[in-house]
Amino acid sequence: MTVREVQDEIIRLKKENDFCILAHSYQTHDILEVADFSGDSYALSKLAKTVPNKNVLMCGVRFMAETVKMLSPEKRVFLSNSIAGCPMAEQMSSDYIRSVKEEYPDHTVVAYINTTAELKTVCDVCVTSSSAVKICSAIDNDKILFIPDCNLGAYVRDKLPGKSFKLLDGGCPVHAAIKREEVIQAKALHPDALFLVHPECVPEVSSLADYVGSTSGIMDFARSSDAGEFIIGTENSILEHLQYECPDKRFYPLSKRLICENMKATTLNDVLDCVRFAGGEEIIMEPELIEAARKCIDKMIEMGG
Ligand code: SF4
Repeated sequence: MTVREVQDEIIRLKKENDFCILAHSYQTHDILEVADFSGDSYALSKLAKTVPNKNVLMCGVRFMAETVKMLSPEKRVFLSNSIAGCPMAEQMSSDYIRSVKEEYPDHTVVAYINTTAELKTVCDVCVTSSSAVKICSAIDNDKILFIPDCNLGAYVRDKLPGKSFKLLDGGCPVHAAIKREEVIQAKALHPDALFLVHPECVPEVSSLADYVGSTSGIMDFARSSDAGEFIIGTENSILEHLQYECPDKRFYPLSKRLICENMKATTLNDVLDCVRFAGGEEIIMEPELIEAARKCIDKMIEMGG
């Protein structure tokens, strides 16, 4: 079958089998074209709650499908490819964080949403990369234990000098691998381009940026900016999406290494298998786990995240 034929079959089957397809922005363009919604993981999870479909397919990684299930426990939620995990989300166990909490009992535990449901059960409040500064600022405690991403944590810490942050040795292996020298090289190659970066990169990289923000924030900035050229410091898929949306602008990758293999584990054929109930993985979570893990998401919502 051609790509177009596979896409047509997915569109036919998602209607027949009552699926809503969500695609994270790091998915390939052929998957975005058959999705009902694309964007950041938390925005997609909130959208999934509002759709009438009985089945939701998350094209992304496991913690994203778990978040969809936690917010819509009455729906059947599927992960497009069961090997698609997120190394950062799975870096720290709940037992490890319990032991750190014993050392820092007066700290509020803030979890980046890129964490497993199990880990969320021992945290006080979740944040996304776009809400982290706002939520941490509003927390009624000056002492914050921020997990798992020490780079996002350092970015938030630098914005909130009145608070003290305990950071642990965790982070996104894709973004954190980028070196300051690569930024200097990219800027030398494209001197007129603005440099937009995700706060999961190390501070030595983020500090050279014209804009630091979430994936959606980077995309919004590039769409609305009067500038014509951009160096993109996040997963390289979004260059392709931006180039489709803004054909008159130019987008350059900060590094060819900014590719998340887990996000790329899902193929268009995986999506086809899922919507005909012949592939992927249904996310099954005990009600007790959903209830315990949701508390920190509910707290984020309560705090305006
Ligand atoms: S880009 Fe990083 S944080 Fe995002 S899914 Fe891949 S490993 Fe996880």
